Formats: sequence, C-alpha cells, structure tokens
Amino acid sequence: MSARMPVVFVSHGAPDALLKAPDAVDCWRDIGRQLPAPSAILVVSAHWEARQPTASLSGAPETIHDFSGFAPALQRMQYPAPGAPALAERAVSLLSAAGIAADLHPSRGLDHGAWVPLTAMFPQANVPVTQLSLIRNGSVAQHFALGQALAPLREEGVLILASGAITHNFGWLDWQAQSEQAPLPQAAVFADWVAERLAAQDVAALLAYRALPHGAEPHPTEDHFLPLFVALGAASGDTPTRLRPHFSYAALAMDAYVWQGTAGASMA
Ligand code: ZN
Repeated sequence: MSARMPVVFVSHGAPDALLKAPDAVDCWRDIGRQLPAPSAILVVSAHWEARQPTASLSGAPETIHDFSGFAPALQRMQYPAPGAPALAERAVSLLSAAGIAADLHPSRGLDHGAWVPLTAMFPQANVPVTQLSLIRNGSVAQHFALGQALAPLREEGVLILASGAITHNFGWLDWQAQSEQAPLPQAAVFADWVAERLAAQDVAALLAYRALPHGAEPHPTEDHFLPLFVALGAASGDTPTRLRPHFSYAALAMDAYVWQGTAGASMA
C-alpha cells in the first residue's frame, strides 16, 4: 500500500512574490522539501478559467508571464518542467467518471499562479506538471466536487497543488506596505475564520462563506478563492496544517495549507 500524497493550497500573492515575499518563498520551499516526491503535479490556479474544467496536454509547458508592470527580472524567469499529458488525460477521465464534463487543451502552459510557487517548491523543475482550469463562473460547490473527483490521483503519487488566495481584494492593498507591517484587520479576521473552519472540517460553513456579514468583501470576485475548494474536496477529510507567512501588501493573506496523507489505504 502506498501513502496518499498530501494536498497543498498556496496563496500565490502578487506576481512579484518571488522577489518581494521572502517569507512566503521560504514557506513554499519548506513545503516542497517535506513532501514525498510526487510522480507528477496537477496545478489548479486562479489564473485559468474555462467553460468546463480543462487540462493541458502540453509536453513542454510554456512559462506564461501573464502580468505587467512588475520587475523585468520576473519577465525573464522560466520554469522549464516537463509536461504531464498522461496526467491531464487521467484527470479528465476521473472528472468524466464523476459526471463532470471536462476538456483537454493541446498546449496551454503554466501561468504565474503555477510557476511562481513551483519555482520555490521544486526548484529543479524536474517533476512533470500540468494545469487544470477552473470552471468560469463556477460555484464553490462545483469546485469542491471537482476536487472530490480528483482525489484518487493522490493514491497515484500525484500532487494536487491549488493556487489562489485566502483574501484577494485589491481595494484593501497598501502597495507601500513594509513586508512585516501589521495586516488590515478585516483581512486577518477572514484568514483566521477560514483557518478555524478548515481545522474544524466545517465544509458547510466554508461553502456558505459569502453569507457571512461582509463575506463577499475578501473576494469581490471568487476566482482566487475557488482553488481552496478544489483542495478541500481532494483532501477527503484529512486535517490541514496552516502555514502563515506575512501578508503581502498588508492585505493579501499568504496562508498555505497542507493536508497530510495518511499511510495505508484506510479512508475514514
Ligand atoms: Zn493571482
């Protein structure tokens, strides 16, 4: 019996996190070092949405610099990991078997939600990786179901890496903030609420987060929160560990979560 691969969620922060968020980079590096070596990686990033979940067949995914206005050094960064077309096909077949219509894309590369944390987690870029899109305008419940359907990949040595944000309201950001500045209180309150509900495995409360007083404010659009629900679905009841680097720009919570796999095949 093989161990179940952990599931990881990271808040990828602003595109310049590799240059400006050393605390988060250290966190991602430590996660990469502590994980069992994955056979391949399936990344679900906030920066790819499609009509239905879509996985890339690229054998050599391009490093997509899907941002502007940041340091030229970022534009030059490359993450030359091999692709994982067989994993893309396996993911789509698992989704189809669960009644979720899914697509394959012939060539889509890695957006910054994928390659920024991967650069720290797996700096040798030697683990095959593919991306799976979000469902454009899909609900949190749909993304939770997506994660549930993908959970068997964990038994196959695949790392499911979900990359989004715990808080993502650009109106809250202080672009002049110092790296260790105290965070905006409402950002910290929401990040702590998420942590408490995750620790309690209170999926129902998390799915209903928008009904909280001010619940929509941390996520004026939901795209950066949806990857958390994919991870939660794939976590299959495992208990998460919260890692909490300093906030970026005083309001982007950089929390990461690792749901540890359990040895053996038992699934409570
Ligand atoms: Zn982002």
